[in-house]
Amino acid sequence: MKQQYKSYQQTVDIINQSVQKYPELISVQSIGKTHENRDIVLATISLDVNNAQNKPALLYTGTIHAREWIGNELGVAFIEYLLENYKTNPKVFKTLTYNTIYIVPCLNPDGYEYSRSHFSFWRKNRRDNGDGTFGVDLNRNFSVGYTKSSNTSSNVYSGPKPFSEPETSAIKHFVDNHSNITLALDYHSQGNVFFPAHKFNHEPEINGTDLNTICANMNYEIHKVTGRKYGIHRGKPPTKLISGSGREYYYSKGIIAAVVEVGTRNIPDFMKNMTESIDENIPALLKTFGEAQNYSKQAPLRPLNFIASQISDSRVTLTWDKPLSEDIYFRIFRNTHNKEACNSSNLICETFNNTFTDVQLNSSTTYYYYIRAVNNNTKVKSPFSPKLKVKTTLQSHEFAKTIFPNPKDVGYVSQKLEHTNFKHFGLNSLFIGVNETKGISYGVMQFNLDKIPKNAIITDVQISLYPLNRVNAKIENYGEWSISFIDSSSVGEIYDFNQIHNAKVIETLGQTIPSSKLTQGKWSHWDFNDIEKEILSQQLKNDKVIFKIKGPTKLPDGRDSQMMMFDLGYGKFGGGLHYRPNIDIKYTVPGQTCIIEASSVVSIYKNKQDATNLTCGFDKNNDKVYGLMNFDLSYLPDPSKTIITDCYLEIKNKTATKTKLDIRYNIEFVDVEDTSYESIQNRDRIEFIGYEVSRADLQKNKKHKFIFDHYSCIALENTHKLKNEAKFIIKATSSNITNHFVSWHNKDNKNTLKLVVKYINRNKQYSQQVSNVKTSIENNKVKLSWQNPLDNNFVGVYVVRNRFHIPSNPLDGEKIYAGNDNYTFDDFGNPKISKYYAIFAYDNVPNYSKSTIIKFKSN
Ligand SMILES: [Zn+2]
Repeated sequence: MKQQYKSYQQTVDIINQSVQKYPELISVQSIGKTHENRDIVLATISLDVNNAQNKPALLYTGTIHAREWIGNELGVAFIEYLLENYKTNPKVFKTLTYNTIYIVPCLNPDGYEYSRSHFSFWRKNRRDNGDGTFGVDLNRNFSVGYTKSSNTSSNVYSGPKPFSEPETSAIKHFVDNHSNITLALDYHSQGNVFFPAHKFNHEPEINGTDLNTICANMNYEIHKVTGRKYGIHRGKPPTKLISGSGREYYYSKGIIAAVVEVGTRNIPDFMKNMTESIDENIPALLKTFGEAQNYSKQAPLRPLNFIASQISDSRVTLTWDKPLSEDIYFRIFRNTHNKEACNSSNLICETFNNTFTDVQLNSSTTYYYYIRAVNNNTKVKSPFSPKLKVKTTLQSHEFAKTIFPNPKDVGYVSQKLEHTNFKHFGLNSLFIGVNETKGISYGVMQFNLDKIPKNAIITDVQISLYPLNRVNAKIENYGEWSISFIDSSSVGEIYDFNQIHNAKVIETLGQTIPSSKLTQGKWSHWDFNDIEKEILSQQLKNDKVIFKIKGPTKLPDGRDSQMMMFDLGYGKFGGGLHYRPNIDIKYTVPGQTCIIEASSVVSIYKNKQDATNLTCGFDKNNDKVYGLMNFDLSYLPDPSKTIITDCYLEIKNKTATKTKLDIRYNIEFVDVEDTSYESIQNRDRIEFIGYEVSRADLQKNKKHKFIFDHYSCIALENTHKLKNEAKFIIKATSSNITNHFVSWHNKDNKNTLKLVVKYINRNKQYSQQVSNVKTSIENNKVKLSWQNPLDNNFVGVYVVRNRFHIPSNPLDGEKIYAGNDNYTFDDFGNPKISKYYAIFAYDNVPNYSKSTIIKFKSN
């Protein structure tokens, strides 16, 4: 297993030989000596390497942990790749022209050699601690968040003081003296996950989007090679989990830094797994290498105040501050999931303008927008503005509910922990899969459906779970995680493993998520198909639905765990409401029909009017005769709650003259002052309704339906709101015809002229806002209080914070609270940071009010 891997000396030899062969491209230096007197070797690669320090640079470090051999192997492989391809691959050439890379393939040579020759899973360096123990965890020995420990035998012993070790002190010295470094990647194993750096202050950083996007763009390249996607774990900070690491030190110097955890084992099968890891990371590394200059002083400034100024059910208008320079244009990217790439595959706009409208979007759907500036002369790009999250509004007939399970209704049951399974509910994490100590474990989620009408027509459903940690899912490409409806009548006790194990499954969702796609730090979503929506509809009568989540139930020889952890969002170690499992249901309700008979009709001739019959055509002087119909819309309910979904005007003709002339008749939805011939001729035409009918049609059928289009339905709603009477004109479309009439209806006829309106009852908008918003500090947290609106439509408020700009919509920032209290604490925020809070009130649709804003100023 180990022979194919390079020794440290082989690594140094390869670099030295490269310097001999490509002296203009690569140089080598020792940045320090280890305890065992090995050189810590750093390679510099750039076109015209003597000029390297004048170009923006990426710092590559590997194998700071002795047993994590990928760092050294990939470092050497990338050096070889660059040298072999710079002449033939224009992208490599361009990247090396404008950027520099510093590569330390192995930052812990002593530990690495110890791991190679004596103890495979050795992690630390080889300091003699003087008490019979050896080694300091170098990735706990940097200064940021350094935590002193006295347990020298611990695998994470942090050393006597920050930078006490020659390895950390050497890299610190190098970084401190190379202000051209803009990006840093530190390679570890294992986990297939990116850990971007943190400032541990519980608030988004201005470059948080850059960190995530750099990792997501690497993921895009990785996916092209092996179909794999790594997790990106920046969002919830692993507070206190990591202290004194290199990544945070680099970040504190203004360097965009991330750890890349590669593979599923420290020392994997070389031929099968290590080559995969190397092959997928080379294009990813090249991509990030090319970004170095975009984070340097050459780069334009990142755009500011990137917000959504208008949001509808299908369009979003984005705006940002006007650029100061005419040489600057902007690139806008759109994703439907968080932490995805921004590259040519999702570039939706390039513009010198400071606004853009995105169109043809789905309703009630979350979109993520990204923007960066580009210098049109140099093509150097700016960092990204903080990402903008937007949810399009519902269509006028739609309702939506996001339902979270109660704490006692969500948890997991394990085969071997039968007596304590009840404790796994509403606490910290869901463990799903199989391992040696727990046996088989299932997740259980019960959602209350009592807020959704029993007759709801469900149109879209999505279940979402947040994979928290895949360290225990140790086997690559093994097993899948699925969700099933279980028959609630077959389960008496959801805390009982056997009952859940034997529960009657109604249906398993068609979509399963294989282990390779279950990436930690990125939401997993299950979208329901029509059959699954139908099953959920049937559960509405029970007011609840129970799901069982199942992972692998068997392990191959020699393996001890294939267990995925999902955040539960409750308990001390749960990520809170941002990470709670949830079901998102979009639905509508059955429509009602209102049939309105014409309240009056009048036939309008040039020189007379007839209020008993509805006639149209031409008089003896070729002048048109118009039929005017009035409908009383007060038969419809309250206009503020009536959404017209369909409508048609039905009319019967009594006569049909025989003629060879091509005569056609149409109906217009109109606004007229009075019934004078002049007013009718100068009518305000709102819209044509349906299509015209011909004389032949009148002979074939007596009954004609004129169908409203979408715009006409909206116009009818507006008319309903304004004046309760709708007017239509029927007339011939031809001209120059003499003495020709069609009679349609007279006032004594029943059922020959009607407006058939289908509608649903739903609030159109919600305009009440909260008032009297105040902030205060209690127990070192920001407390927000406000007064809720008093009207009957009020359901709750949605509170969001943003430290960069005023939140432009309910998703524009971090969600703080949703519910109907009149106060909340910002449990996750930092009271030392100034920020904006926005409170949106909502009704039962939900429609959101305009926001009430408060600026919080820290002392
Ligand atoms: Zn490591």
